[in-house]
Amino acid sequence: MPLVSMRQLLDEAAKGGYGVGAFNVNNMEQIQAIVAAAVETKSPVIIQASRGARKYAEDRYLFHLILAASELHPEIPIAMHQDHGNSYETCKSAIELGYTSVMMDGSLKDDGKTPATFEENVAVTKKVVEFAHARGVTVEGEIGVLGGVEDGHGAGGTGLEHVTDPDQAVEFAERTGVDALAIAIGTSHGAYKFTKKPDGSVLKMDLLIKIHNRLPHTHLVMHGSSSVPKDLQDIINQYGGKLRQTWGVPVEEIQLGIKNGVRKVNVDTDNRLAMTGAIRKVFAEQPEKFDPRDYLKPAREAMQKVVALRMTQFGQAGHAGDYKPLAITEFIKGYASGALDTRPSVAKK
Ligand SMILES: [Zn+2]
Repeated sequence: MPLVSMRQLLDEAAKGGYGVGAFNVNNMEQIQAIVAAAVETKSPVIIQASRGARKYAEDRYLFHLILAASELHPEIPIAMHQDHGNSYETCKSAIELGYTSVMMDGSLKDDGKTPATFEENVAVTKKVVEFAHARGVTVEGEIGVLGGVEDGHGAGGTGLEHVTDPDQAVEFAERTGVDALAIAIGTSHGAYKFTKKPDGSVLKMDLLIKIHNRLPHTHLVMHGSSSVPKDLQDIINQYGGKLRQTWGVPVEEIQLGIKNGVRKVNVDTDNRLAMTGAIRKVFAEQPEKFDPRDYLKPAREAMQKVVALRMTQFGQAGHAGDYKPLAITEFIKGYASGALDTRPSVAKK
Protein backbone atom coordinates (compact mmCIF):
# COMPACT_ATOMS: atom_id res chain seq x y z
CA MET A 1 0.00 0.00 0.00
CA PRO A 2 1.38 3.44 -0.81
CA LEU A 3 1.56 6.00 1.96
CA VAL A 4 -1.85 7.38 2.85
CA SER A 5 -3.17 10.93 3.16
CA MET A 6 -3.13 12.08 6.78
CA ARG A 7 -6.40 13.89 6.12
CA GLN A 8 -8.05 10.55 5.44
CA LEU A 9 -6.69 9.07 8.68
CA LEU A 10 -8.00 12.05 10.64
CA ASP A 11 -11.39 12.19 8.90
CA GLU A 12 -11.85 8.50 9.64
CA ALA A 13 -10.77 9.06 13.25
CA ALA A 14 -13.37 11.83 13.57
CA LYS A 15 -16.06 9.48 12.24
CA GLY A 16 -14.95 6.74 14.62
CA GLY A 17 -14.49 9.09 17.59
CA TYR A 18 -10.86 8.16 18.26
CA GLY A 19 -7.42 9.74 18.13
CA VAL A 20 -4.39 8.72 16.09
CA GLY A 21 -0.93 8.69 17.63
CA ALA A 22 1.78 10.47 15.65
CA PHE A 23 5.11 9.01 16.61
CA ASN A 24 8.49 10.54 15.81
CA VAL A 25 11.25 8.57 14.13
CA ASN A 26 14.96 8.98 13.46
CA ASN A 27 16.06 5.45 12.59
CA MET A 28 15.06 1.97 11.49
CA GLU A 29 14.42 0.51 14.93
CA GLN A 30 11.93 3.24 15.84
CA ILE A 31 10.04 2.76 12.56
CA GLN A 32 9.97 -1.00 13.13
CA ALA A 33 8.74 -0.54 16.71
CA ILE A 34 5.85 1.68 15.60
CA VAL A 35 4.84 -0.56 12.73
CA ALA A 36 5.06 -3.69 14.87
CA ALA A 37 2.77 -2.00 17.41
CA ALA A 38 0.37 -0.98 14.63
CA VAL A 39 0.27 -4.54 13.31
CA GLU A 40 -0.16 -5.94 16.83
CA THR A 41 -3.08 -3.60 17.60
CA LYS A 42 -4.45 -3.25 14.03
CA SER A 43 -4.02 0.52 14.10
CA PRO A 44 -3.77 3.19 11.42
CA VAL A 45 -0.74 5.32 12.27
CA ILE A 46 1.09 8.57 11.58
CA ILE A 47 4.87 8.34 11.38
CA GLN A 48 6.49 11.74 11.61
CA ALA A 49 9.94 13.20 11.13
CA SER A 50 11.18 16.52 12.45
CA ARG A 51 13.70 18.64 10.60
CA GLY A 52 16.29 17.29 13.02
CA ALA A 53 15.32 13.72 12.13
CA ARG A 54 15.54 14.39 8.40
CA LYS A 55 18.99 15.80 8.92
CA TYR A 56 20.16 13.05 11.27
CA ALA A 57 18.99 10.13 9.15
CA GLU A 58 19.30 11.88 5.77
CA ASP A 59 16.09 12.38 3.85
CA ARG A 60 16.25 9.43 1.53
CA TYR A 61 17.19 6.87 4.18
CA LEU A 62 14.25 7.87 6.34
CA PHE A 63 11.81 8.15 3.45
CA HIS A 64 12.67 4.71 2.10
CA LEU A 65 12.56 3.09 5.52
CA ILE A 66 9.02 4.39 6.01
CA LEU A 67 8.10 3.35 2.49
CA ALA A 68 9.43 -0.13 3.31
CA ALA A 69 7.07 -0.23 6.27
CA SER A 70 4.08 0.49 4.03
CA GLU A 71 5.21 -2.13 1.49
CA LEU A 72 5.64 -4.80 4.15
CA HIS A 73 2.32 -4.00 5.84
CA PRO A 74 -0.27 -3.02 3.26
CA GLU A 75 -2.98 -3.76 5.84
CA ILE A 76 -1.89 -0.75 7.91
CA PRO A 77 -2.77 2.78 6.72
CA ILE A 78 0.42 4.81 7.27
CA ALA A 79 0.66 8.58 6.81
CA MET A 80 4.09 10.17 6.63
CA HIS A 81 4.23 13.60 8.18
CA GLN A 82 6.76 16.42 8.43
CA ASP A 83 6.73 17.52 12.07
CA HIS A 84 7.27 21.26 12.74
CA GLY A 85 8.24 22.52 9.32
CA ASN A 86 9.85 25.88 9.98
CA SER A 87 9.40 27.39 6.50
CA TYR A 88 7.70 27.08 3.15
CA GLU A 89 10.90 25.56 1.74
CA THR A 90 11.07 22.83 4.40
CA CYS A 91 7.45 21.83 3.73
CA LYS A 92 7.92 21.98 -0.03
CA SER A 93 10.97 19.70 0.15
CA ALA A 94 9.04 17.16 2.25
CA ILE A 95 6.14 17.18 -0.22
CA GLU A 96 8.48 16.77 -3.16
CA LEU A 97 10.12 13.84 -1.41
CA GLY A 98 6.77 12.08 -0.97
CA TYR A 99 5.46 12.98 2.49
CA THR A 100 1.66 12.79 2.55
CA SER A 101 1.34 15.48 5.20
CA VAL A 102 3.25 18.47 6.51
CA MET A 103 3.09 20.71 9.53
CA MET A 104 3.81 24.33 8.81
CA ASP A 105 4.63 25.69 12.23
CA GLY A 106 4.27 29.39 11.45
CA SER A 107 3.82 30.20 15.13
CA LEU A 108 7.58 30.69 15.13
CA LYS A 109 9.79 32.51 12.67
CA ASP A 110 11.94 30.30 10.43
CA ASP A 111 14.71 30.23 13.05
CA GLY A 112 12.34 27.88 14.92
CA LYS A 113 12.73 29.94 18.10
CA THR A 114 11.25 33.45 17.85
CA PRO A 115 7.46 33.78 18.06
CA ALA A 116 6.04 35.11 14.77
CA THR A 117 3.18 37.57 14.41
CA PHE A 118 -0.31 36.34 13.60
CA GLU A 119 -0.12 37.87 10.13
CA GLU A 120 3.24 36.21 9.40
CA ASN A 121 1.81 32.88 10.52
CA VAL A 122 -1.28 33.23 8.32
CA ALA A 123 0.80 34.24 5.27
CA VAL A 124 3.32 31.39 5.35
CA THR A 125 0.73 28.75 6.31
CA LYS A 126 -1.62 29.83 3.50
CA LYS A 127 1.23 29.55 1.02
CA VAL A 128 2.02 26.01 2.20
CA VAL A 129 -1.67 25.05 2.05
CA GLU A 130 -1.88 26.18 -1.58
CA PHE A 131 1.21 24.20 -2.58
CA ALA A 132 0.25 21.11 -0.53
CA HIS A 133 -3.44 20.86 -1.41
CA ALA A 134 -2.66 21.16 -5.13
CA ARG A 135 -0.69 17.94 -4.61
CA GLY A 136 -3.22 16.22 -2.36
CA VAL A 137 -1.06 16.66 0.74
CA THR A 138 -2.48 17.41 4.18
CA VAL A 139 -1.45 20.50 6.19
CA GLU A 140 -1.31 21.00 9.94
CA GLY A 141 -0.86 24.55 11.22
CA GLU A 142 -0.15 25.87 14.69
CA ILE A 143 -1.66 28.81 16.51
CA GLY A 144 -0.33 29.87 19.89
CA VAL A 145 3.16 28.77 20.90
CA LEU A 146 4.06 25.55 22.71
CA GLY A 147 6.52 25.49 25.56
CA GLY A 148 9.94 23.86 25.67
CA VAL A 149 12.45 22.97 22.99
CA GLU A 150 12.86 19.70 21.11
CA ASP A 151 15.34 18.94 18.36
CA GLY A 152 16.41 22.59 18.49
CA HIS A 153 12.85 23.70 17.73
CA GLY A 154 10.82 25.73 20.19
CA ALA A 155 10.47 29.06 21.92
CA GLY A 156 11.48 27.60 25.30
CA GLY A 157 9.72 28.64 28.48
CA THR A 158 6.57 27.11 29.91
CA GLY A 159 3.58 26.20 27.82
CA LEU A 160 1.50 28.98 29.35
CA GLU A 161 3.22 31.99 27.83
CA HIS A 162 1.39 31.95 24.49
CA VAL A 163 -1.74 29.82 24.86
CA THR A 164 -4.10 29.80 21.89
CA ASP A 165 -6.76 32.49 21.65
CA PRO A 166 -10.04 30.92 20.36
CA ASP A 167 -10.93 33.95 18.21
CA GLN A 168 -7.51 33.82 16.57
CA ALA A 169 -7.86 30.07 16.03
CA VAL A 170 -11.13 30.62 14.14
CA GLU A 171 -9.68 33.45 12.05
CA PHE A 172 -6.56 31.36 11.35
CA ALA A 173 -8.62 28.36 10.18
CA GLU A 174 -10.74 30.61 7.99
CA ARG A 175 -7.85 32.40 6.34
CA THR A 176 -5.52 29.41 5.83
CA GLY A 177 -7.82 26.40 5.21
CA VAL A 178 -5.56 24.04 7.20
CA ASP A 179 -6.74 20.45 7.65
CA ALA A 180 -5.52 20.20 11.21
CA LEU A 181 -4.57 22.67 13.87
CA ALA A 182 -2.09 22.36 16.71
CA ILE A 183 -3.10 24.46 19.68
CA ALA A 184 -1.18 25.60 22.73
CA ILE A 185 -3.00 24.66 25.93
CA GLY A 186 -0.08 24.51 28.34
CA THR A 187 1.86 21.53 27.00
CA SER A 188 5.57 21.62 26.22
CA HIS A 189 7.98 19.59 24.16
CA GLY A 190 10.60 17.40 25.83
CA ALA A 191 10.57 15.43 29.06
CA TYR A 192 10.15 18.32 31.52
CA LYS A 193 6.58 19.43 30.92
CA PHE A 194 5.16 19.88 34.41
CA THR A 195 6.68 19.99 37.89
CA LYS A 196 3.74 18.11 39.39
CA LYS A 197 0.72 16.22 38.10
CA PRO A 198 -0.94 18.90 35.95
CA ASP A 199 -4.32 20.36 36.88
CA GLY A 200 -6.51 22.88 35.07
CA SER A 201 -4.25 25.76 36.10
CA VAL A 202 -1.42 24.53 33.85
CA LEU A 203 -3.14 22.21 31.37
CA LYS A 204 -6.01 24.14 29.78
CA MET A 205 -8.40 21.44 28.66
CA ASP A 206 -11.29 23.92 29.00
CA LEU A 207 -9.62 26.06 26.34
CA LEU A 208 -9.31 23.04 24.04
CA ILE A 209 -13.03 22.33 24.43
CA LYS A 210 -13.87 25.97 23.70
CA ILE A 211 -11.79 25.90 20.50
CA HIS A 212 -13.36 22.63 19.35
CA ASN A 213 -16.84 24.05 19.82
CA ARG A 214 -15.92 27.01 17.63
CA LEU A 215 -14.07 24.88 15.04
CA PRO A 216 -15.88 21.54 14.83
CA HIS A 217 -14.53 20.72 11.34
CA THR A 218 -10.85 21.32 11.98
CA HIS A 219 -9.00 18.36 13.42
CA LEU A 220 -7.19 19.42 16.58
CA VAL A 221 -3.67 18.28 17.38
CA MET A 222 -2.10 17.89 20.79
CA HIS A 223 1.67 18.36 20.75
CA GLY A 224 4.01 17.55 23.58
CA SER A 225 1.64 14.82 24.67
CA SER A 226 3.91 12.20 26.10
CA SER A 227 2.70 11.06 29.49
CA VAL A 228 6.27 10.63 30.80
CA PRO A 229 5.29 7.74 33.08
CA LYS A 230 7.22 7.29 36.29
CA ASP A 231 8.12 3.64 35.56
CA LEU A 232 9.99 4.65 32.39
CA GLN A 233 11.85 7.39 34.29
CA ASP A 234 12.65 4.91 37.06
CA ILE A 235 14.24 2.33 34.73
CA ILE A 236 16.61 4.96 33.38
CA ASN A 237 17.56 6.19 36.85
CA GLN A 238 17.85 2.66 38.24
CA TYR A 239 20.53 1.88 35.66
CA GLY A 240 22.69 4.92 36.07
CA GLY A 241 20.62 7.67 34.46
CA LYS A 242 20.07 11.07 36.01
CA LEU A 243 16.59 12.29 35.13
CA ARG A 244 14.96 14.63 37.59
CA GLN A 245 11.37 13.78 38.38
CA THR A 246 8.87 15.21 35.93
CA TRP A 247 5.26 14.92 34.80
CA GLY A 248 3.76 14.70 31.34
CA VAL A 249 0.20 14.87 30.04
CA PRO A 250 -1.92 12.24 31.83
CA VAL A 251 -3.55 9.76 29.43
CA GLU A 252 -7.00 10.60 30.82
CA GLU A 253 -6.53 14.25 29.77
CA ILE A 254 -5.57 13.14 26.26
CA GLN A 255 -8.69 10.96 26.21
CA LEU A 256 -10.77 13.99 27.25
CA GLY A 257 -9.17 15.85 24.33
CA ILE A 258 -10.06 13.02 21.95
CA LYS A 259 -13.70 13.32 23.09
CA ASN A 260 -13.42 16.98 22.09
CA GLY A 261 -11.98 17.04 18.59
CA VAL A 262 -8.36 15.95 19.09
CA ARG A 263 -7.53 13.56 16.25
CA LYS A 264 -3.72 13.60 16.25
CA VAL A 265 -1.66 13.08 19.38
CA ASN A 266 2.10 13.61 19.18
CA VAL A 267 4.27 11.31 21.24
CA ASP A 268 8.05 11.24 21.21
CA THR A 269 9.50 11.52 24.71
CA ASP A 270 7.85 8.33 26.03
CA ASN A 271 9.46 6.32 23.24
CA ARG A 272 12.85 7.93 23.82
CA LEU A 273 12.60 7.05 27.51
CA ALA A 274 11.58 3.46 26.79
CA MET A 275 14.49 2.87 24.41
CA THR A 276 17.06 4.51 26.63
CA GLY A 277 15.90 2.56 29.70
CA ALA A 278 16.16 -0.74 27.83
CA ILE A 279 19.65 0.08 26.53
CA ARG A 280 20.87 1.19 29.96
CA LYS A 281 19.58 -2.03 31.47
CA VAL A 282 21.60 -4.16 29.02
CA PHE A 283 24.71 -2.05 29.54
CA ALA A 284 24.39 -2.30 33.32
CA GLU A 285 23.49 -5.97 33.55
CA GLN A 286 25.59 -7.35 30.71
CA PRO A 287 28.61 -5.12 30.35
CA GLU A 288 30.36 -7.78 28.29
CA LYS A 289 27.96 -7.25 25.36
CA PHE A 290 29.14 -5.27 22.37
CA ASP A 291 26.92 -6.31 19.46
CA PRO A 292 24.52 -3.36 18.86
CA ARG A 293 21.71 -5.86 18.26
CA ASP A 294 22.02 -7.01 21.87
CA TYR A 295 20.72 -3.64 23.08
CA LEU A 296 18.81 -2.32 20.05
CA LYS A 297 16.49 -5.33 20.01
CA PRO A 298 15.31 -4.85 23.61
CA ALA A 299 15.12 -1.10 22.92
CA ARG A 300 12.88 -1.72 19.94
CA GLU A 301 10.70 -4.09 21.98
CA ALA A 302 10.38 -1.57 24.81
CA MET A 303 9.28 1.12 22.38
CA GLN A 304 6.79 -1.21 20.69
CA LYS A 305 5.20 -1.86 24.09
CA VAL A 306 4.72 1.86 24.79
CA VAL A 307 3.38 2.59 21.29
CA ALA A 308 0.93 -0.33 21.40
CA LEU A 309 -0.34 0.86 24.78
CA ARG A 310 -0.87 4.42 23.48
CA MET A 311 -2.65 3.10 20.38
CA THR A 312 -5.07 1.27 22.63
CA GLN A 313 -5.50 4.28 24.92
CA PHE A 314 -6.08 6.71 22.02
CA GLY A 315 -8.70 4.34 20.54
CA GLN A 316 -7.09 3.83 17.13
CA ALA A 317 -6.52 0.13 17.88
CA GLY A 318 -8.71 -2.13 15.77
CA HIS A 319 -9.42 0.51 13.12
CA ALA A 320 -6.77 -0.31 10.51
CA GLY A 321 -9.19 -2.28 8.36
CA ASP A 322 -12.17 0.09 8.63
CA TYR A 323 -11.60 1.83 5.33
CA LYS A 324 -9.86 1.60 2.01
CA PRO A 325 -7.08 4.13 1.62
CA LEU A 326 -7.76 6.53 -1.24
CA ALA A 327 -5.16 7.51 -3.80
CA ILE A 328 -3.56 10.90 -3.21
CA THR A 329 -5.07 12.02 -6.56
CA GLU A 330 -8.50 11.77 -4.92
CA PHE A 331 -7.38 14.41 -2.46
CA ILE A 332 -6.14 16.67 -5.24
CA LYS A 333 -9.68 16.51 -6.66
CA GLY A 334 -11.32 16.92 -3.27
CA TYR A 335 -9.37 20.05 -2.41
CA ALA A 336 -9.92 21.52 -5.89
CA SER A 337 -13.68 20.94 -5.80
CA GLY A 338 -14.08 22.32 -2.28
CA ALA A 339 -15.37 18.99 -0.95
CA LEU A 340 -12.52 18.92 1.60
CA ASP A 341 -12.77 22.60 2.56
CA THR A 342 -12.57 22.96 6.36
CA ARG A 343 -12.93 26.73 6.59
CA PRO A 344 -15.58 27.50 9.24
CA SER A 345 -17.60 29.66 6.82
CA VAL A 346 -17.78 26.82 4.29
CA ALA A 347 -17.60 23.45 6.11
CA LYS A 348 -20.84 21.80 7.05
CA LYS A 349 -21.46 18.86 9.31
ZN1 LIG B 1 5.37 19.53 18.45
